[in-house]
Amino acid sequence: MTTHFFRNRLSQNFFDHFKSSGNLFYSSVVPQPIDNPAWVSCNFDLADSLGISADELQDPSNLLLMSGSHFDDTNSISLVYSGHQFGQWAGQLGDGRAITLGELPVGESSELWDIQLKGAGKTPYSRFGDGRAVLRSSIREYLCSEAMHGLGIATTRALCLTTGETGVVRETIEPAAIVCRVARSHIRFGHFEHFHYSNNPQSVKQLADYLIGRHFSDWSDNPKRYYLLLQSCVLSTAKTIAQWQSVGFCHGVMNTDNMSILGDTIDYGPFGFLDTYDPGFICNHSDHQGRYSFQNQPSVALWNLNALATCFSSLLDTSEITDCLQQYENEYLSHYRQIMAKKLGLLEYTQSDEQLINQLLVMMANERVDYTLFFRKLCDFSEQNQSLRDYFIDRDKFDLWSKDYLLRVKAQDLGDEQRQQAMQQVNPAYVLRNYMAQDAIKAAENGDFSEVELLLTILKDPFVSRPEAEKYAGLPPDWASEITVSCSS
Ligand code: AMP
Ligand code: MG
Repeated sequence: MTTHFFRNRLSQNFFDHFKSSGNLFYSSVVPQPIDNPAWVSCNFDLADSLGISADELQDPSNLLLMSGSHFDDTNSISLVYSGHQFGQWAGQLGDGRAITLGELPVGESSELWDIQLKGAGKTPYSRFGDGRAVLRSSIREYLCSEAMHGLGIATTRALCLTTGETGVVRETIEPAAIVCRVARSHIRFGHFEHFHYSNNPQSVKQLADYLIGRHFSDWSDNPKRYYLLLQSCVLSTAKTIAQWQSVGFCHGVMNTDNMSILGDTIDYGPFGFLDTYDPGFICNHSDHQGRYSFQNQPSVALWNLNALATCFSSLLDTSEITDCLQQYENEYLSHYRQIMAKKLGLLEYTQSDEQLINQLLVMMANERVDYTLFFRKLCDFSEQNQSLRDYFIDRDKFDLWSKDYLLRVKAQDLGDEQRQQAMQQVNPAYVLRNYMAQDAIKAAENGDFSEVELLLTILKDPFVSRPEAEKYAGLPPDWASEITVSCSS
């Protein structure tokens, strides 16, 4: 047995809480190590905010732990959940390749953060899978978690990424990898569905009580606590989805088992950021119907919230459930409008801005304008707009729009320079386009992890332009449109 700095720090909160319920909620699982492990990347900023020093993070004993070696003083567990996949009830799923080592108390409030390994071998919920994750998908998850965090969007985080000599069979044999995923919670909508549809309202209540105790302890004695819990799921989901839409993020697999109860973005698979603005964009190659297309995400999230809310029927009246769900649309729209107004450099959203925003988006869609690039360039908007006009074939139409826009920005009590600065804080120079991840993956598969490092650096502060990453602030190369990504690998 190897000693490790987590040894006295990790709590076994979930394990202890549900111990008496046996394996209704989880199974104890022993991680399986990757052979001859090596670091791909360490996220020192996240480590620091978790109270883990750089030395501790890089310690050889931590390389072993993070690459799946067993430390027999931890009760590592995998959780069971169910879910709706592509609108169909899928029955029992669960952590098929995720193992939670424990929870780390963080900061003065000792808030607990789950420390989890993704890709550390089979669990009782692996079904036909091998419990592994390939390097390629792990790099995507690692980078995108931090990119989303950098964009200010609620998400699970990624502490480190390891690989080694273990091969996994996909279409070819690929290197295995493990991401250490860190989150305030890994509880999904599908956890509630699991107990609701197995006719076990007692466990639904136990789960709700656990979440309230861990995340919302102020409500513990509040008679409306279950209403508040469902309401908080609705509101936090609405906010996260509004943020996704504002940065052009497409999740790709918005099944109810991939929806976090805290509204965090979770389970990065075939995600994609928009290059050209295309509302019908489908990032998941296996999503033939486009159920999870970019423009469908807000309504799919509500569909998923309905599925979650159904599971609260043993805790709440129908009227309370309906009341929670009805708050979604307003919450979503009010976040979306506020963010879009900010992207346009408007101090406040007013009703007439809806037209201004919509006209712009329609023009961008018709002319296939690059979403991220255009908004970043819009930060430099002035009365002479040659460079912006050049994005459009129908320049006259753009000129008409920019006349209205100019009037709107000039009507505010805000100088050009201040507006520009404010806009640069909300319009990123960089998002994780698929081709960027692809570049980093190609290099990493040849043993060069420097591109992963560069992308981590630029994406965690995506509003700062960096000369060394100039090419990533521009249009994607032609081959980018050929990239396809589909479900778990
Ligand atoms: P996903 O589409 O990644 O959200 O995965 C759906 C379900 O399949 C979850 O229960 C995963 O844990 C499981 N799963 C995905 N890939 C694997 C794998 N390689 N081995 C075992 N289970 C997996
Ligand atoms: Mg999943």
